[in-house]
Amino acid sequence: MRARVEKPACAGCGVCVEMCPAVFEMGADDTAEVKVDVVPTEAEATCRDAADQCPTSAIVIMQG
Ligand code: SF4
Repeated sequence: MRARVEKPACAGCGVCVEMCPAVFEMGADDTAEVKVDVVPTEAEATCRDAADQCPTSAIVIMQG
């Protein structure tokens, strides 16, 4: 599983970083970034939760 942040849509709220720091971090431009190529198996559930909780639906989850 992979994840991506649509930067133009990101409000920079930090919710995803708080919920799933294994996958998300804040970038220098104050929007979130995905810091891993492949989401670690143990972080998949929290990564999906973070995507669900993102207020602007800026997180895209991709299988494979
Ligand atoms: Fe951006 Fe969504 Fe993460 Fe908030 S939860 S920082 S809007 S990607």
